[in-house]
Amino acid sequence: MASWSVPKPFDAVIAVTYRCNARCQMCNIWQVKDHDDCQPQHYRNIPNTLRHINISGGEPFLRVDLPEIVRVVAERNPTAHILVSSNGFQPSRTVEAVRKMMGYHNKLGVGISIDGIGAKHDGSSRGSSLRRRRTTSLPTRARSCCLWFRSN
Ligand code: SF4
Repeated sequence: MASWSVPKPFDAVIAVTYRCNARCQMCNIWQVKDHDDCQPQHYRNIPNTLRHINISGGEPFLRVDLPEIVRVVAERNPTAHILVSSNGFQPSRTVEAVRKMMGYHNKLGVGISIDGIGAKHDGSSRGSSLRRRRTTSLPTRARSCCLWFRSN
């Protein structure tokens, strides 16, 4: 009888919440109401073979314990690149959380969703033109879609 060997995963997308502060026309994740988010300690059970990890949602930065989640994920996969995807609606909160996360991991990035330049980006396809415009208050570097941070 043949024996099967299942390769261990090296890429993962982890949706840490279905909650979102946007109402994008092309997405219905924000309509999901009856769910529980995993707690940070649950992420101790993810594989330890990961090289690229995308922390996604919903909007991950809505979770006040996001830095703790990143800490647990990074402890499990200390050499992995970790990218947190965001709609960029909460610049101040994002910066504060990223500062904490940088203390836990030195291969950390944040991806900001950009729909276009100027009016195209500021449009209401994501459900709130006011908050969308605030995204453009991020530093110019942040508007290039993806920032990578190193803590050392
Ligand atoms: S920001 Fe992302 S998760 Fe939130 S509604 Fe839009 S596409 Fe969906």
